[in-house]
Amino acid sequence: MSAEPASGDGLSCRFRLTHYLRFTALLLAFGLAAAAGMTRAGLTPLLVGWVGFIIVAFFFPGWGIRVLCTHCPFYARPGLILRCNSTIGPLKLWRRRPGPASGAERVQLQVILAVLFGFPVIALLVAGQFLWAGLTAAAAALLAWTETTFACRRCVNFACFLNRVSAGRRDAFLDRHPDLKKDWAQRSDA
Ligand code: SF4
Repeated sequence: MSAEPASGDGLSCRFRLTHYLRFTALLLAFGLAAAAGMTRAGLTPLLVGWVGFIIVAFFFPGWGIRVLCTHCPFYARPGLILRCNSTIGPLKLWRRRPGPASGAERVQLQVILAVLFGFPVIALLVAGQFLWAGLTAAAAALLAWTETTFACRRCVNFACFLNRVSAGRRDAFLDRHPDLKKDWAQRSDA
């Protein structure tokens, strides 16, 4: 696909610093609440394990990047570093895999998100840190609500199970990007 998809269809085809900062601030709030609570509860080994999981999932080797982002038009842009409205920095270690995600990839992404957001909350609950568990869960809920309300309805990664772009808008976008449309049709038929 072209390095810079056409816009004007209401979809988030271009990098927007405000979108990136919004997502990063909410993610940071969630991460800090989880880290503070787990530290306070003496769950440092679990915290280290959780951070390790995040590194494996989103940086090296980037398991989540593979099952989610390699399908995304943002991943197709030139350069070795992924830059989109949600993240800047992960290396593009995987080959691009345009088109729909497989069922196995969807399950893997759901597992990754469940561990990412659920693990600290459950650990804090088990440790009896109900205030920190509540704060962490609230930060996760705010992030989820904000993204599904403002980002997922405009996201150009149609392979993501959270994508909320209507079929009509998706097809109109693909009509303007024949290379993406071909990939999508081929993988859909596979
Ligand atoms: S799937 Fe989301 S996080 Fe991954 S490159 Fe696309 S917009 Fe960024």
